[in-house]
Amino acid sequence: MSEENARAEMVRKQIIERQVHDSRVLEVISRIPRELFVPEPLRSRAYEDHPQPIGHNQTISQPYMVACMTELLQLAGDEKTLEIGTGSGYQTAVLAELCKRVISLERIPELAEEANQRLLDMGYCNVRVIVCDGSGGYPQESPYDRIIVTAASPHIPSLLLDQLSNGGRMVIPVGEETVQMLMCVEKNESGEITTHDYGQCVFVPLVGKYAWGALRNKEGDSETKKD
Ligand code: SAM
Repeated sequence: MSEENARAEMVRKQIIERQVHDSRVLEVISRIPRELFVPEPLRSRAYEDHPQPIGHNQTISQPYMVACMTELLQLAGDEKTLEIGTGSGYQTAVLAELCKRVISLERIPELAEEANQRLLDMGYCNVRVIVCDGSGGYPQESPYDRIIVTAASPHIPSLLLDQLSNGGRMVIPVGEETVQMLMCVEKNESGEITTHDYGQCVFVPLVGKYAWGALRNKEGDSETKKD
């Protein structure tokens, strides 16, 4: 099957049949060549219905999860969006197509460099990839109209709430390291917070000072004390 056909089938079977219907999200995912975001030996498997390894014990997220999280952000096109967990840059590319500007944070320098180069090669000029621990966000560019966290957090980091605009939305997986709930956090025009959950999901951990790194350090995990 050609990559175009595999992509169309992915959108139909994995995304539309699971009730993602935002036409802008569907159009962008139908167009972006996902195979360019997975390591060469896995390119023929880029459209399968699960995450794929991208090295450094990290993954490119399942296509459905990218579609679902992007739909929950309710992007209209003029937003400044903070993404935490660049990974392969695939979700970053989807965001770059649907909003004005994307600041994307990645803690693993090699992944950040590869994703940044890939996004530049593909012509995305509205993305800035920054190497840092993103568990505390990136206050220098705040506030953000939207925040998306693509790694699992033990809680909703309060620093991220501080960096969300009034009227903004954040999507974040929250829970245990093994399984999380996909949460959508809304901040209204008065700054009041409401949260909704959208079912279970499984992400790699958000490792950092304000997420799993902090908890592990309290428990004396020497490996993550470096964070
Ligand atoms: N959305 C990505 C894609 O489409 O390829 C997949 C992201 S992957 C599931 C999660 C990413 O979050 C990993 O690349 C990981 O290194 C990164 N990450 C984990 N903790 C982080 C932190 N504190 N700050 C920044 N990035 C972090």
